[in-house]
Amino acid sequence: MPVKSREVHLVARPRGEPGPSDFALVETEVPDPGQDQILVRNDWISVDPYMRGRMNDVESYVPPFGLNEVMTGGAVGTVVESNLVGVPAGTTVRHFLGWREHALLGKGSFEVVDTSLAPLQAYLGVLGLTGLTAYAGLKRIAPVGEGEVVFVSGAAGAVGSTAAELAKCLGASKVIGSAGGPGKTRRIVEEFGYDAAVDYKAGDIEGQLRAAAPDGIDVYFDNVGGEHLRAALAALRTNGRVAMCGAISQYNATEPVPGPDNLFLAVGKRLTLRGFIVGDHVDLAPEYGRMAAALLREGRLRSEETVVDGIENAVDAFLGLLRGANTGKMLVRL
Ligand code: NDP
Repeated sequence: MPVKSREVHLVARPRGEPGPSDFALVETEVPDPGQDQILVRNDWISVDPYMRGRMNDVESYVPPFGLNEVMTGGAVGTVVESNLVGVPAGTTVRHFLGWREHALLGKGSFEVVDTSLAPLQAYLGVLGLTGLTAYAGLKRIAPVGEGEVVFVSGAAGAVGSTAAELAKCLGASKVIGSAGGPGKTRRIVEEFGYDAAVDYKAGDIEGQLRAAAPDGIDVYFDNVGGEHLRAALAALRTNGRVAMCGAISQYNATEPVPGPDNLFLAVGKRLTLRGFIVGDHVDLAPEYGRMAAALLREGRLRSEETVVDGIENAVDAFLGLLRGANTGKMLVRL
């Protein structure tokens, strides 16, 4: 019997900040699995900032979402019916057909995940691309040296909070984080292991960063772009490095955004600014997976999450993510 499933479609291309009317919850029927296919009930789906870019009809490193089609994204779930040898019902898997309650998957389009190591949803966060992004940024793109000072923007979020913990494990002597508002800045210092915090919503990011790191910073992990990048360029010491991971302050921009007006500092300070996409660094996944599993066991890495329940609230979770409603990984539990 085909199973009924609800899924989220993009029905309009947002201009500026997306709104609920850009999306529709659609009920559909998923056919029985064919040969070498599995039917998966999604238990958790991921909402991520990069999805905002996929809502625009522009060329990028990932193709845009189709209009009036179900969106895709990271998901983890349980096999409920299987015609694939070696993957019985009950197996837990990670795949890319998120934004829906059920997914039909063929060989090679999913991976089995081990829930004895960590809860299933951790494979969308600290043990998933989120964690790998933080690791690739600090290990390969802007490597952290022993005793160095690291600044992380988007510090209370999924990638940022993991980056802070990994920076310490990789030898940083001090990690400064920037987040929005006094609640988050307090939490990142008291709970997430940051040594100092910048509240970017209070203004003067450059002055706050100078006060937190009077002798400057060595590495900047940039999730935000704009004014944060400008402040980091001012604070970076000679031979400093920037991992350009994201620019969330600009994702809803409707006009061209000004570049940092102090970029020329990169010359005199011999800075390296390097952008990256996590998908190009999956070769690091095995070593990161081993390290992260050990750090989780030792309590040196946390799996911080904000959970929203129900596919009918997935759009709200995504819109909330863009406005900072989350700490740690924003997840939807189905
Ligand atoms: P987060 O969990 O960090 O969530 C987004 C956060 O961005 C919000 O919680 C909010 O926190 C902050 N934010 C929103 N608007 C602004 C703004 N105008 N200025 C400063 N902060 C803002 O998301 P992720 O950890 O998933 O992603 C973080 C960044 O990493 C994003 O830029 C994303 O695109 C990028 N990324 C890049 C990858 C790559 O391969 N290069 C892979 C994965 C993510 P607050 O309340 O503090 O404002």
